[in-house]
Amino acid sequence: MTILGTPEVPARIAIVGSGPGGFYAAEHLLKPEHPCLIDMFDRLPTPFGLVRGGVAPDHGKIRNVTKVYEKIAAREGFRFFGNVRVGQDISVAELQQHYDAVLFAYGAETDRSLGIPGEDLQGSYTATSFVGWYNGHPDYRECAFDLSGEVAVVIGVGNVAMDVARILAKSVDELKTTDIAAHALEALAESRVREIHLVGRRGPAQAAFTPMELKEMGELALCQPVVSPESLVLNPASEAELTDNSVHRNIELLNEFAALSDRGAARRMYFRFLESPLEITGNGRVGSIVLGKNRLAGTEPFKQWAEGTGESVSLPCDLIFRSIGYRGIPMPGVPFDEKRGLIPNVEGRVKGPEGVVPGLYVAGWIKRGPTGIIGTNKPDSHDTADRILEDLAALPPCPVRETEAIPALLAARNIRFVSLSDWQQIDAAEQARGAAVGKPRERFTRIDEMLAVLE
Ligand code: NAP
Repeated sequence: MTILGTPEVPARIAIVGSGPGGFYAAEHLLKPEHPCLIDMFDRLPTPFGLVRGGVAPDHGKIRNVTKVYEKIAAREGFRFFGNVRVGQDISVAELQQHYDAVLFAYGAETDRSLGIPGEDLQGSYTATSFVGWYNGHPDYRECAFDLSGEVAVVIGVGNVAMDVARILAKSVDELKTTDIAAHALEALAESRVREIHLVGRRGPAQAAFTPMELKEMGELALCQPVVSPESLVLNPASEAELTDNSVHRNIELLNEFAALSDRGAARRMYFRFLESPLEITGNGRVGSIVLGKNRLAGTEPFKQWAEGTGESVSLPCDLIFRSIGYRGIPMPGVPFDEKRGLIPNVEGRVKGPEGVVPGLYVAGWIKRGPTGIIGTNKPDSHDTADRILEDLAALPPCPVRETEAIPALLAARNIRFVSLSDWQQIDAAEQARGAAVGKPRERFTRIDEMLAVLE
Protein backbone atom coordinates (compact mmCIF):
# COMPACT_ATOMS: atom_id res chain seq x y z
CA MET A 1 0.00 0.00 0.00
CA THR A 2 1.29 3.50 -0.89
CA ILE A 3 1.90 5.76 2.11
CA LEU A 4 1.62 9.43 1.22
CA GLY A 5 3.93 12.00 2.77
CA THR A 6 7.12 9.91 2.59
CA PRO A 7 10.37 10.75 0.76
CA GLU A 8 9.39 8.12 -1.87
CA VAL A 9 5.83 9.42 -2.27
CA PRO A 10 5.55 13.06 -1.16
CA ALA A 11 1.96 14.15 -0.67
CA ARG A 12 0.73 16.29 -3.57
CA ILE A 13 -1.38 19.14 -2.27
CA ALA A 14 -3.12 21.95 -4.17
CA ILE A 15 -3.92 25.16 -2.33
CA VAL A 16 -6.51 27.38 -4.02
CA GLY A 17 -5.92 30.99 -2.98
CA SER A 18 -2.68 32.72 -2.05
CA GLY A 19 -3.73 34.92 0.85
CA PRO A 20 -2.81 34.46 4.52
CA GLY A 21 -5.03 31.37 4.90
CA GLY A 22 -3.26 29.57 2.06
CA PHE A 23 0.26 30.63 3.00
CA TYR A 24 -0.02 29.66 6.68
CA ALA A 25 -1.31 26.22 5.64
CA ALA A 26 1.64 25.87 3.22
CA GLU A 27 4.03 26.89 6.02
CA HIS A 28 2.79 24.04 8.20
CA LEU A 29 2.73 21.47 5.43
CA LEU A 30 6.20 22.22 4.05
CA LYS A 31 8.20 20.54 6.78
CA PRO A 32 10.86 17.87 6.21
CA GLU A 33 9.17 15.37 8.58
CA HIS A 34 6.25 14.83 6.18
CA PRO A 35 7.40 15.48 2.60
CA CYS A 36 4.82 17.45 0.64
CA LEU A 37 4.71 19.17 -2.72
CA ILE A 38 2.53 22.27 -2.72
CA ASP A 39 1.08 23.91 -5.80
CA MET A 40 -0.66 27.18 -4.92
CA PHE A 41 -3.19 28.58 -7.39
CA ASP A 42 -4.55 32.10 -7.62
CA ARG A 43 -6.93 33.62 -10.15
CA LEU A 44 -4.77 36.77 -10.22
CA PRO A 45 -1.18 36.86 -11.51
CA THR A 46 -0.25 38.34 -8.11
CA PRO A 47 -0.16 36.49 -4.78
CA PHE A 48 -1.11 37.49 -1.19
CA GLY A 49 -4.89 37.94 -1.47
CA LEU A 50 -6.28 40.62 0.84
CA VAL A 51 -2.82 41.52 2.12
CA ARG A 52 -2.26 43.05 -1.30
CA GLY A 53 -5.85 43.84 -2.30
CA GLY A 54 -7.49 44.63 1.05
CA VAL A 55 -5.07 46.07 3.60
CA ALA A 56 -5.16 49.86 3.33
CA PRO A 57 -2.19 51.47 1.53
CA ASP A 58 -1.39 53.66 4.54
CA HIS A 59 -0.96 50.50 6.64
CA GLY A 60 2.35 49.56 5.05
CA LYS A 61 3.63 47.82 8.18
CA ILE A 62 0.76 45.32 8.08
CA ARG A 63 1.60 44.65 4.43
CA ASN A 64 5.15 43.69 5.44
CA VAL A 65 3.78 40.28 6.43
CA THR A 66 4.31 39.38 2.75
CA LYS A 67 8.00 38.95 3.63
CA VAL A 68 6.98 35.92 5.72
CA TYR A 69 4.99 34.55 2.77
CA GLU A 70 7.93 35.10 0.41
CA LYS A 71 10.07 32.92 2.68
CA ILE A 72 7.43 30.19 2.66
CA ALA A 73 7.21 30.41 -1.14
CA ALA A 74 11.00 30.01 -1.35
CA ARG A 75 10.91 26.62 0.40
CA GLU A 76 11.60 23.51 -1.61
CA GLY A 77 8.45 21.83 -2.84
CA PHE A 78 6.46 25.06 -3.36
CA ARG A 79 5.17 26.24 -6.73
CA PHE A 80 2.92 29.18 -7.61
CA PHE A 81 0.39 29.11 -10.44
CA GLY A 82 -1.03 32.62 -10.73
CA ASN A 83 -3.56 33.74 -13.36
CA VAL A 84 -5.35 30.37 -13.12
CA ARG A 85 -9.07 30.37 -12.28
CA VAL A 86 -9.89 27.15 -10.48
CA GLY A 87 -13.46 26.26 -11.40
CA GLN A 88 -13.06 27.76 -14.89
CA ASP A 89 -9.57 27.15 -16.31
CA ILE A 90 -9.26 23.91 -14.42
CA SER A 91 -11.98 22.10 -12.50
CA VAL A 92 -11.85 20.81 -8.95
CA ALA A 93 -12.39 17.29 -10.33
CA GLU A 94 -9.24 17.76 -12.46
CA LEU A 95 -7.30 18.99 -9.46
CA GLN A 96 -8.36 15.84 -7.63
CA GLN A 97 -6.79 13.80 -10.44
CA HIS A 98 -3.45 15.54 -9.82
CA TYR A 99 -3.43 16.10 -6.05
CA ASP A 100 -3.98 13.89 -3.02
CA ALA A 101 -5.57 16.80 -1.18
CA VAL A 102 -7.08 20.10 -2.30
CA LEU A 103 -7.27 22.96 0.18
CA PHE A 104 -9.57 25.91 -0.54
CA ALA A 105 -8.37 29.18 0.93
CA TYR A 106 -9.83 31.64 -1.56
CA GLY A 107 -11.36 33.99 1.00
CA ALA A 108 -14.60 35.93 0.85
CA GLU A 109 -14.47 38.13 -2.18
CA THR A 110 -17.91 39.67 -2.38
CA ASP A 111 -19.92 41.82 0.00
CA ARG A 112 -23.06 41.39 2.09
CA SER A 113 -26.00 43.53 1.07
CA LEU A 114 -28.28 45.63 3.29
CA GLY A 115 -31.50 44.65 1.53
CA ILE A 116 -33.03 48.14 1.81
CA PRO A 117 -34.73 50.30 -0.84
CA GLY A 118 -32.37 52.56 -2.76
CA GLU A 119 -29.30 50.43 -2.04
CA ASP A 120 -28.37 50.42 -5.71
CA LEU A 121 -28.87 54.11 -6.42
CA GLN A 122 -25.98 55.85 -8.12
CA GLY A 123 -23.62 57.09 -5.41
CA SER A 124 -24.25 54.08 -3.15
CA TYR A 125 -21.18 51.85 -3.26
CA THR A 126 -19.85 48.75 -1.58
CA ALA A 127 -16.80 49.13 0.63
CA THR A 128 -15.27 46.13 -1.15
CA SER A 129 -15.28 47.98 -4.49
CA PHE A 130 -13.77 51.15 -2.98
CA VAL A 131 -11.06 49.13 -1.20
CA GLY A 132 -10.29 47.16 -4.37
CA TRP A 133 -10.19 50.39 -6.37
CA TYR A 134 -7.75 52.28 -4.16
CA ASN A 135 -5.58 49.17 -3.94
CA GLY A 136 -5.41 48.80 -7.72
CA HIS A 137 -7.18 45.40 -7.80
CA PRO A 138 -7.83 44.55 -11.49
CA ASP A 139 -11.50 43.65 -10.75
CA TYR A 140 -12.19 47.25 -9.70
CA ARG A 141 -9.97 49.10 -12.19
CA GLU A 142 -12.91 50.48 -14.11
CA CYS A 143 -14.90 51.61 -11.06
CA ALA A 144 -15.54 55.31 -10.69
CA PHE A 145 -16.49 57.03 -7.44
CA ASP A 146 -18.15 60.38 -7.60
CA LEU A 147 -16.37 62.36 -4.88
CA SER A 148 -17.81 65.72 -5.95
CA GLY A 149 -20.30 65.88 -3.04
CA GLU A 150 -19.50 66.99 0.50
CA VAL A 151 -21.24 64.40 2.69
CA ALA A 152 -20.27 60.71 2.76
CA VAL A 153 -21.93 58.05 4.91
CA VAL A 154 -20.20 54.78 5.79
CA ILE A 155 -22.55 52.07 7.04
CA GLY A 156 -20.98 49.69 9.56
CA VAL A 157 -18.32 50.27 12.19
CA GLY A 158 -15.83 47.48 11.52
CA ASN A 159 -12.20 47.93 10.50
CA VAL A 160 -13.06 48.00 6.79
CA ALA A 161 -15.42 50.93 7.47
CA MET A 162 -12.53 52.59 9.31
CA ASP A 163 -10.22 52.06 6.33
CA VAL A 164 -12.76 53.56 3.93
CA ALA A 165 -13.47 56.53 6.20
CA ARG A 166 -9.76 57.18 6.83
CA ILE A 167 -8.85 57.10 3.14
CA LEU A 168 -11.68 59.59 2.46
CA ALA A 169 -10.44 61.76 5.33
CA LYS A 170 -6.75 61.82 4.53
CA SER A 171 -5.01 64.53 2.58
CA VAL A 172 -3.12 63.76 -0.63
CA ASP A 173 0.12 64.50 1.25
CA GLU A 174 -0.71 61.72 3.71
CA LEU A 175 -1.37 59.25 0.89
CA LYS A 176 1.07 60.10 -1.89
CA THR A 177 4.01 58.20 -0.42
CA THR A 178 1.96 55.01 0.11
CA ASP A 179 1.38 52.42 -2.59
CA ILE A 180 -2.17 53.64 -3.23
CA ALA A 181 -3.11 53.17 -6.89
CA ALA A 182 -2.28 56.22 -9.02
CA HIS A 183 -5.85 56.47 -10.38
CA ALA A 184 -7.24 56.58 -6.81
CA LEU A 185 -4.76 59.21 -5.66
CA GLU A 186 -5.70 61.35 -8.63
CA ALA A 187 -9.43 61.07 -7.89
CA LEU A 188 -8.98 61.62 -4.14
CA ALA A 189 -6.96 64.77 -4.86
CA GLU A 190 -10.11 66.22 -6.42
CA SER A 191 -12.41 64.98 -3.63
CA ARG A 192 -14.80 67.54 -2.14
CA VAL A 193 -15.85 65.29 0.73
CA ARG A 194 -15.92 67.32 3.95
CA GLU A 195 -18.16 65.29 6.25
CA ILE A 196 -17.90 61.57 6.88
CA HIS A 197 -20.56 59.85 8.99
CA LEU A 198 -19.74 56.42 10.38
CA VAL A 199 -22.98 54.65 11.32
CA GLY A 200 -23.13 51.77 13.83
CA ARG A 201 -26.39 49.93 14.41
CA ARG A 202 -25.46 49.08 18.00
CA GLY A 203 -23.72 51.16 20.68
CA PRO A 204 -20.09 52.29 20.99
CA ALA A 205 -19.21 49.33 23.23
CA GLN A 206 -20.33 46.94 20.48
CA ALA A 207 -18.39 48.60 17.64
CA ALA A 208 -16.30 46.07 15.70
CA PHE A 209 -13.35 48.42 15.05
CA THR A 210 -10.18 47.94 17.08
CA PRO A 211 -8.39 50.59 19.21
CA MET A 212 -5.38 50.97 16.93
CA GLU A 213 -7.60 51.87 13.99
CA LEU A 214 -9.76 54.15 16.13
CA LYS A 215 -6.75 56.00 17.56
CA GLU A 216 -5.61 56.91 14.04
CA MET A 217 -8.80 58.91 13.57
CA GLY A 218 -7.48 61.39 16.13
CA GLU A 219 -4.21 61.82 14.25
CA LEU A 220 -5.38 62.93 10.81
CA ALA A 221 -3.96 66.12 9.32
CA LEU A 222 -7.18 67.55 7.89
CA CYS A 223 -9.91 65.75 9.77
CA GLN A 224 -11.30 65.96 13.29
CA PRO A 225 -13.34 63.17 14.90
CA VAL A 226 -16.70 64.26 16.33
CA VAL A 227 -18.48 62.20 18.98
CA SER A 228 -21.44 63.34 21.07
CA PRO A 229 -20.94 62.65 24.80
CA GLU A 230 -24.58 61.44 25.07
CA SER A 231 -23.86 58.64 22.60
CA LEU A 232 -21.25 57.28 25.04
CA VAL A 233 -23.61 56.72 27.96
CA LEU A 234 -23.56 52.96 28.53
CA ASN A 235 -26.31 50.68 29.85
CA PRO A 236 -25.36 48.14 32.58
CA ALA A 237 -24.72 45.30 30.10
CA SER A 238 -22.44 47.54 28.02
CA GLU A 239 -20.65 48.67 31.20
CA ALA A 240 -19.97 44.98 31.87
CA GLU A 241 -18.44 44.69 28.37
CA LEU A 242 -15.67 47.07 29.46
CA THR A 243 -13.91 44.01 30.93
CA ASP A 244 -12.78 43.39 27.35
CA ASN A 245 -9.56 45.38 26.84
CA SER A 246 -10.40 46.36 23.31
CA VAL A 247 -13.88 47.65 24.25
CA HIS A 248 -12.40 49.49 27.23
CA ARG A 249 -9.80 51.23 25.07
CA ASN A 250 -12.33 52.06 22.34
CA ILE A 251 -14.60 53.77 24.87
CA GLU A 252 -11.63 55.61 26.35
CA LEU A 253 -10.63 56.90 22.90
CA LEU A 254 -14.20 57.87 21.98
CA ASN A 255 -14.44 59.84 25.23
CA GLU A 256 -11.19 61.63 24.33
CA PHE A 257 -12.69 62.49 20.93
CA ALA A 258 -15.90 63.71 22.58
CA ALA A 259 -13.86 66.08 24.75
CA LEU A 260 -11.98 67.66 21.83
CA SER A 261 -12.65 71.28 21.14
CA ASP A 262 -13.40 72.34 17.59
CA ARG A 263 -10.10 72.98 15.84
CA GLY A 264 -11.75 74.19 12.66
CA ALA A 265 -10.55 71.19 10.65
CA ALA A 266 -11.41 71.12 6.95
CA ARG A 267 -12.98 67.66 7.32
CA ARG A 268 -15.00 66.04 10.10
CA MET A 269 -15.68 62.45 10.93
CA TYR A 270 -18.90 61.89 12.87
CA PHE A 271 -19.25 58.69 14.91
CA ARG A 272 -22.94 57.76 15.11
CA PHE A 273 -24.32 54.86 17.09
CA LEU A 274 -27.66 53.08 17.53
CA GLU A 275 -28.83 53.84 14.00
CA SER A 276 -29.75 51.44 11.20
CA PRO A 277 -30.14 52.36 7.54
CA LEU A 278 -33.79 51.95 6.51
CA GLU A 279 -33.86 53.52 3.06
CA ILE A 280 -31.67 55.41 0.63
CA THR A 281 -33.57 58.05 -1.28
CA GLY A 282 -32.78 60.35 -4.15
CA ASN A 283 -33.79 61.33 -7.62
CA GLY A 284 -31.78 58.88 -9.72
CA ARG A 285 -28.84 59.18 -7.35
CA VAL A 286 -28.19 59.28 -3.60
CA GLY A 287 -29.75 62.33 -1.95
CA SER A 288 -30.29 61.19 1.63
CA ILE A 289 -30.39 58.19 3.88
CA VAL A 290 -33.11 57.39 6.40
CA LEU A 291 -31.59 56.11 9.63
CA GLY A 292 -33.85 54.31 12.11
CA LYS A 293 -33.05 54.95 15.77
CA ASN A 294 -32.25 51.83 17.80
CA ARG A 295 -31.99 50.79 21.41
CA LEU A 296 -30.00 47.86 22.70
CA ALA A 297 -32.04 44.78 23.55
CA GLY A 298 -31.00 41.86 25.76
CA THR A 299 -29.34 42.06 29.14
CA GLU A 300 -26.45 39.65 28.70
CA PRO A 301 -23.08 41.37 28.04
CA PHE A 302 -21.63 40.72 24.54
CA LYS A 303 -25.01 39.38 23.38
CA GLN A 304 -27.00 42.61 22.97
CA TRP A 305 -28.72 43.34 19.69
CA ALA A 306 -30.23 46.43 18.04
CA GLU A 307 -33.97 46.94 18.21
CA GLY A 308 -35.74 49.77 16.34
CA THR A 309 -37.49 52.42 18.44
CA GLY A 310 -39.77 53.47 15.59
CA GLU A 311 -38.09 56.88 15.32
CA SER A 312 -35.94 57.84 12.39
CA VAL A 313 -33.91 60.72 10.98
CA SER A 314 -33.14 61.64 7.42
CA LEU A 315 -29.51 62.54 6.73
CA PRO A 316 -28.89 64.39 3.46
CA CYS A 317 -25.78 62.93 1.82
CA ASP A 318 -24.02 62.58 -1.51
CA LEU A 319 -22.39 59.18 -1.32
CA ILE A 320 -22.76 56.04 0.73
CA PHE A 321 -20.36 53.15 1.35
CA ARG A 322 -21.91 49.91 2.61
CA SER A 323 -19.34 48.22 4.83
CA ILE A 324 -21.22 45.48 6.63
CA GLY A 325 -18.94 42.53 5.98
CA TYR A 326 -17.58 40.33 3.23
CA ARG A 327 -19.16 37.15 1.89
CA GLY A 328 -17.67 34.04 0.27
CA ILE A 329 -18.69 32.76 -3.16
CA PRO A 330 -19.19 29.12 -4.17
CA MET A 331 -16.63 26.99 -5.98
CA PRO A 332 -18.18 24.82 -8.73
CA GLY A 333 -18.24 21.18 -7.64
CA VAL A 334 -17.76 21.92 -3.92
CA PRO A 335 -20.50 22.04 -1.23
CA PHE A 336 -21.50 25.58 -0.22
CA ASP A 337 -23.50 27.05 2.64
CA GLU A 338 -25.49 29.83 0.95
CA LYS A 339 -26.78 31.22 4.21
CA ARG A 340 -23.36 31.73 5.77
CA GLY A 341 -21.44 32.30 2.53
CA LEU A 342 -18.77 29.68 3.22
CA ILE A 343 -17.78 26.07 2.48
CA PRO A 344 -19.33 23.84 5.16
CA ASN A 345 -16.68 21.94 7.07
CA VAL A 346 -15.82 20.05 10.19
CA GLU A 347 -12.53 21.36 11.58
CA GLY A 348 -11.39 22.23 8.07
CA ARG A 349 -12.57 19.01 6.38
CA VAL A 350 -15.17 19.85 3.71
CA LYS A 351 -18.57 18.45 4.58
CA GLY A 352 -21.23 17.60 1.98
CA PRO A 353 -24.79 16.30 2.43
CA GLU A 354 -23.39 12.78 2.88
CA GLY A 355 -20.67 13.72 5.33
CA VAL A 356 -16.98 14.61 5.01
CA VAL A 357 -15.69 14.70 1.40
CA PRO A 358 -12.33 12.89 1.46
CA GLY A 359 -9.39 14.93 0.21
CA LEU A 360 -11.07 18.37 0.28
CA TYR A 361 -10.17 20.96 2.94
CA VAL A 362 -10.70 24.64 3.77
CA ALA A 363 -8.79 27.41 5.53
CA GLY A 364 -9.23 31.15 6.10
CA TRP A 365 -12.42 33.16 5.53
CA ILE A 366 -14.01 30.57 3.23
CA LYS A 367 -13.71 28.16 6.19
CA ARG A 368 -14.90 30.28 9.10
CA GLY A 369 -16.45 33.42 7.57
CA PRO A 370 -14.96 36.91 7.19
CA THR A 371 -13.69 37.51 10.70
CA GLY A 372 -10.36 38.05 12.37
CA ILE A 373 -7.15 39.81 11.52
CA ILE A 374 -4.32 38.40 9.37
CA GLY A 375 -2.70 36.64 12.34
CA THR A 376 -5.96 34.81 13.17
CA ASN A 377 -5.31 32.71 10.08
CA LYS A 378 -2.08 31.24 11.35
CA PRO A 379 -3.42 28.88 14.05
CA ASP A 380 -6.57 28.31 12.00
CA SER A 381 -4.67 27.23 8.87
CA HIS A 382 -2.21 25.18 10.91
CA ASP A 383 -5.22 23.30 12.33
CA THR A 384 -6.49 22.45 8.86
CA ALA A 385 -2.98 21.45 7.79
CA ASP A 386 -2.85 19.08 10.77
CA ARG A 387 -6.13 17.49 9.63
CA ILE A 388 -4.59 16.93 6.18
CA LEU A 389 -1.50 15.34 7.72
CA GLU A 390 -3.65 13.11 9.95
CA ASP A 391 -5.65 11.97 6.92
CA LEU A 392 -2.70 11.23 4.61
CA ALA A 393 -2.45 7.58 5.63
CA ALA A 394 -6.06 6.96 4.63
CA LEU A 395 -6.27 9.13 1.50
CA PRO A 396 -6.16 7.33 -1.85
CA PRO A 397 -3.14 8.56 -3.88
CA CYS A 398 -4.20 10.72 -6.83
CA PRO A 399 -3.77 8.94 -10.17
CA VAL A 400 -1.63 11.57 -11.99
CA ARG A 401 1.58 12.22 -10.04
CA GLU A 402 3.94 13.73 -12.64
CA THR A 403 4.94 17.22 -11.48
CA GLU A 404 4.97 18.51 -15.04
CA ALA A 405 1.42 17.33 -15.78
CA ILE A 406 -0.26 20.50 -14.44
CA PRO A 407 1.92 23.02 -16.31
CA ALA A 408 1.45 20.92 -19.44
CA LEU A 409 -2.32 20.83 -19.01
CA LEU A 410 -2.51 24.61 -18.48
CA ALA A 411 -0.22 25.29 -21.44
CA ALA A 412 -2.37 23.02 -23.64
CA ARG A 413 -5.31 25.26 -22.71
CA ASN A 414 -3.36 28.40 -23.61
CA ILE A 415 -3.40 29.62 -20.03
CA ARG A 416 -0.46 31.91 -19.35
CA PHE A 417 0.12 30.88 -15.77
CA VAL A 418 2.39 33.05 -13.66
CA SER A 419 5.12 31.17 -11.81
CA LEU A 420 6.89 32.34 -8.67
CA SER A 421 9.80 33.74 -10.69
CA ASP A 422 7.33 35.46 -13.04
CA TRP A 423 5.69 37.10 -10.02
CA GLN A 424 9.11 38.19 -8.77
CA GLN A 425 9.62 39.98 -12.10
CA ILE A 426 6.24 41.72 -11.82
CA ASP A 427 7.05 42.63 -8.22
CA ALA A 428 10.42 44.13 -9.18
CA ALA A 429 8.82 46.11 -12.02
CA GLU A 430 6.16 47.52 -9.66
CA GLN A 431 8.80 48.51 -7.13
CA ALA A 432 10.90 50.21 -9.82
CA ARG A 433 7.85 52.16 -11.02
CA GLY A 434 7.18 53.16 -7.41
CA ALA A 435 10.76 54.28 -6.77
CA ALA A 436 10.47 56.66 -9.71
CA VAL A 437 7.59 58.50 -8.02
CA GLY A 438 8.57 58.19 -4.33
CA LYS A 439 6.22 55.28 -3.51
CA PRO A 440 7.06 51.77 -2.27
CA ARG A 441 5.48 50.43 -5.47
CA GLU A 442 3.28 51.55 -8.30
CA ARG A 443 0.96 48.65 -8.94
CA PHE A 444 -0.08 47.33 -12.29
CA THR A 445 -3.85 47.52 -12.19
CA ARG A 446 -4.64 45.46 -15.28
CA ILE A 447 -3.81 41.82 -15.85
CA ASP A 448 -2.48 42.45 -19.37
CA GLU A 449 -0.04 45.05 -17.97
CA MET A 450 1.24 42.47 -15.50
CA LEU A 451 1.66 39.82 -18.20
CA ALA A 452 3.37 42.32 -20.51
CA VAL A 453 6.25 42.51 -18.01
CA LEU A 454 6.92 38.84 -18.74
CA GLU A 455 7.10 39.09 -22.54
P1 NAP B 1 -16.87 43.38 10.66
O1 NAP B 1 -15.74 43.58 11.58
O2 NAP B 1 -17.67 42.14 10.81
O3 NAP B 1 -17.84 44.66 10.81
C1 NAP B 1 -19.06 44.72 10.16
C2 NAP B 1 -19.86 45.90 10.68
O4 NAP B 1 -21.07 45.97 9.93
C3 NAP B 1 -20.26 45.78 12.15
O5 NAP B 1 -20.25 47.05 12.72
C4 NAP B 1 -21.70 45.24 12.04
O6 NAP B 1 -22.52 45.55 13.15
C5 NAP B 1 -22.18 46.01 10.83
N1 NAP B 1 -23.34 45.42 10.20
C6 NAP B 1 -23.51 44.14 9.79
N2 NAP B 1 -24.74 43.99 9.24
C7 NAP B 1 -25.33 45.20 9.31
C8 NAP B 1 -26.59 45.69 8.88
N3 NAP B 1 -27.48 44.90 8.28
N4 NAP B 1 -26.87 46.99 9.12
C9 NAP B 1 -25.99 47.80 9.72
N5 NAP B 1 -24.78 47.41 10.14
C10 NAP B 1 -24.46 46.12 9.91
O7 NAP B 1 -16.44 43.36 9.13
P2 NAP B 1 -15.35 44.20 8.30
O8 NAP B 1 -15.22 45.57 8.76
O9 NAP B 1 -15.71 43.93 6.89
O10 NAP B 1 -13.99 43.44 8.62
C11 NAP B 1 -13.82 42.04 8.33
C12 NAP B 1 -12.64 41.50 9.15
O11 NAP B 1 -11.42 42.04 8.64
C13 NAP B 1 -12.71 41.89 10.60
O12 NAP B 1 -12.31 40.82 11.39
C14 NAP B 1 -11.74 43.04 10.70
O13 NAP B 1 -11.21 43.26 11.98
C15 NAP B 1 -10.68 42.62 9.69
N6 NAP B 1 -9.95 43.81 9.23
C16 NAP B 1 -8.88 44.20 9.97
C17 NAP B 1 -8.17 45.34 9.63
C18 NAP B 1 -7.02 45.78 10.46
O14 NAP B 1 -6.54 45.00 11.28
N7 NAP B 1 -6.54 47.00 10.32
C19 NAP B 1 -8.56 46.11 8.52
C20 NAP B 1 -9.67 45.69 7.79
C21 NAP B 1 -10.37 44.54 8.16
P3 NAP B 1 -22.86 44.42 14.26
O15 NAP B 1 -21.63 44.32 15.11
O16 NAP B 1 -24.04 44.99 14.96
O17 NAP B 1 -23.15 43.15 13.51
